[in-house]
Amino acid sequence: MSSTKTIGVIGGGQLGQMMAISAIYMGHKVITLDPASDCPSSRVSEVIAAPYDDVDALRQLADRCDVLTYEFENVDADGLDAVIKDGQLPQGTELLRISQNRIFEKDFLSNKAQVTVAPYKVVTSSLDLEDIDLSKNYVLKTATGGYDGHGQKVITSAEDLEEANALANSAECVLEEFVNFDLEISVIVSGNGKDVTVFPVQENIHRNNILSKTIVPARISDRLADRAKAIAVKIAEQLNLSGTLCVEMFATADDIIVNEIAPRPHNSGHYSIEACDFSQFDTHILGILGAPLPAINLHEPAVMLNILGQHVEAAERYVTENPSAHLHMYGKLEAKHNRKMGHVTLFSNEPDNVVEFGKGIDF
Ligand code: AMP
Repeated sequence: MSSTKTIGVIGGGQLGQMMAISAIYMGHKVITLDPASDCPSSRVSEVIAAPYDDVDALRQLADRCDVLTYEFENVDADGLDAVIKDGQLPQGTELLRISQNRIFEKDFLSNKAQVTVAPYKVVTSSLDLEDIDLSKNYVLKTATGGYDGHGQKVITSAEDLEEANALANSAECVLEEFVNFDLEISVIVSGNGKDVTVFPVQENIHRNNILSKTIVPARISDRLADRAKAIAVKIAEQLNLSGTLCVEMFATADDIIVNEIAPRPHNSGHYSIEACDFSQFDTHILGILGAPLPAINLHEPAVMLNILGQHVEAAERYVTENPSAHLHMYGKLEAKHNRKMGHVTLFSNEPDNVVEFGKGIDF
């Protein structure tokens, strides 16, 4: 059997593009399914331009590829089930279904993986909000379709509850207790169906619910960092994970609480391209191919800054003045406001001195 594979990637954005780059330098070929023929992956792979729910296009991809993967979780799991051959999607569709629906996700995390999540309840209408204790704060989140803070309502008062009632009557939701966290962190873990490998703990700073800066290693105690990594490994083992998964968590003074999982490489893991000996994309490709996984070493403390549409010029100036910063641009044609256009990774022991693009100007 040839060790060179054809890998089909559903989604040709920056995550698909960086997966493809890793796959290519390992000698594999990549075919991407994306609605846009000029998507970021088109620079590095052949593209089948079709909607994600086009079953004929999915079948064409499956027929032409040895292994399939995806760069985002809102892939049509039923459509995939209809076309994939046995073992062709090592990540499986079950993980997709879990991460597409917060109700399944919470149930999996708390009951199957048995990790700590914020106390929650399923809300099917505003009736389920009638008896909540307003001496506590909450976040109501729609079960499906939410991203980057969309489909969410923080409840701290009776007025908030009125808006939350409307949200609860429009869609199935999960009501979570508000966590007074010190830091938001995440851990990347990759599996090959048997073993797992885990990355350092990342500290994440969001602006307007969009990741702005990642600091590695996260500024938490060794004890909490070990706990966060152990939680990520426990979740990965429970899933018999293949490929890369990101576990997003809250760090409080003495505890780690899991927020959500993303069954793919994640923006908070981009630093690993330069700062680790293997990147989250390398281990994703190795993992889905069932290859042995390396232990991960962080070369030096690092900071990653996202470049949104409104930051492109600032980022270009920045790398001219800081040539040791690693610039990544994804090749998106239009620099829309808040669109992720690229990122920069640099090595620094003084993360507070690494200023986010547009800070105080254009968030
Ligand atoms: P999510 O869509 O679940 O990632 O939530 C988006 C952001 O909302 C998170 O990055 C947190 O900053 C905040 N958030 C979500 N859930 C909670 C919670 N239970 N307590 C406090 N903040 C939260």
